[in-house]
Amino acid sequence: MPDPAPFLAVTDLRARTLTAAELTAALPRAELDVDSAAAAVRPVIEDVAARGAAAVLDASERFDGVRPEHLRVPQSELQRALDELDPQIRTALEEAAERVRRVDSAQSRPEETVEVVPGGTVSQRWVPVRRVGLYVPGGRAVLPSSVVMNVVPAQVAGVEQIVLASPPQKEFGGLPHPTIRAACALLGVTEVIAAGGAQAIALLAHGGDDLGDGAALEPVDLVTGPGNVYVVAAKRLVRGTVGIDAEAGPTEIAILADSTADPAFVAADLISQAEHDPLAASVLVTDDAALVGAVETELARQVPLALHRERIEEALRGTQSGAVLVDGVEQGLAVVDAYGAEHLEVQTADAAAVAARVTNAGAVFVGSHSPVSLGDYAAGSNHVLPTGGSSRFNGGLGVQTFLRGIHVVHYDRDALAGARSAATTLAAAEGLPAHGSAIDIRFER
Ligand code: NAD
Repeated sequence: MPDPAPFLAVTDLRARTLTAAELTAALPRAELDVDSAAAAVRPVIEDVAARGAAAVLDASERFDGVRPEHLRVPQSELQRALDELDPQIRTALEEAAERVRRVDSAQSRPEETVEVVPGGTVSQRWVPVRRVGLYVPGGRAVLPSSVVMNVVPAQVAGVEQIVLASPPQKEFGGLPHPTIRAACALLGVTEVIAAGGAQAIALLAHGGDDLGDGAALEPVDLVTGPGNVYVVAAKRLVRGTVGIDAEAGPTEIAILADSTADPAFVAADLISQAEHDPLAASVLVTDDAALVGAVETELARQVPLALHRERIEEALRGTQSGAVLVDGVEQGLAVVDAYGAEHLEVQTADAAAVAARVTNAGAVFVGSHSPVSLGDYAAGSNHVLPTGGSSRFNGGLGVQTFLRGIHVVHYDRDALAGARSAATTLAAAEGLPAHGSAIDIRFER
């Protein structure tokens, strides 16, 4: 029997010296990018901005194959879903929420006051965003875990108003999936919208006059949450009208591994993220060519057993996935930093020391017993993470996402006198003398 075609295309960077730009260009990336998806969803967003709920219903019919009876999910449907929730799933959701809450509570930054000079202080107050819109995916898979990952940090931050949107499901009469409704009820979220994709993001950003129940939807101030490439494109297009957390799109896993890695674990982890989306990216970076072969053998064994085999094969064989051969850990670190994966696993000797040197990643998973799937559900970390290289400038979702730092400046007369010369000199140098006068006038009476 001929060998099955390998899953991962190999890019061999060994013995090559590349500039940062050449390195980035050499790495695997998806063919369908956010810009192309943005062109597709722009008309949907404009339509929702102009026509509100009616446009959302039309888009739902087109993209989700159902026209929801209720855009705003009735409270009774939230409670009913919780009453009917499998007790084991309830316990798992409670445990996941408790772990995320523990991390967010500890990582919420306290107000800090710095006495710059005697009588002159600058404080930073952390003020929660008032009203937020949280997106929870429900296309190929429904992700109640994303309810936890969005809602818990918002609650810990002290957000006053939470509205959550998730696609209407045809088989559930146009309501979001029951487990998503149940998770909302479990966490005390009461405003839930049955809308997905760009139409949901646009509705959250622009609001709607009447959602069909006689009540308007007030626009939110910030939209957060993961989604497919259309959701990401929509978030990019509404940014400015509202804030967004990050572009948390089709999932990515990069694994930096050496000869100490277990090929079965590596293959399982590459598959676990490929399961999300044909556009998901699974990238192995290693200095051990034999490991690539062993991982291929494991993929050939494990992929056929997977429930979502076709989607996984498409993702693994896509231009966004592959194996990258490097000279050693140093070049491996340069590659994973240039790639800036949403999830980076480090499965090398001395993994903690190697992981500590990574600068671009949404989240880093250290050693052979910290798989990404743990972080997807129950590590206590957040699974809403930046993709497409945006980890260069964005972190993942967390309590800080929902807080704004406001500087509060409080100087008395003596402290202002001490800063007078520096301020008025810079004002004059900038050709803005009125700025200087606003300081001088306080000493001229
Ligand atoms: P989804 O809810 O993100 O998307 C479903 C919506 O996409 C539909 O409601 C529909 O309106 C819209 N849509 C589908 N095809 C369209 C088209 N051709 N044009 C315009 N709109 C279209 O659910 P999903 O598709 O299952 O995707 C979930 C995504 O979330 C996956 O890509 C997964 O990898 C990603 N994810 C990312 C993170 C992260 O933090 N980066 C975390 C979890 C999941």
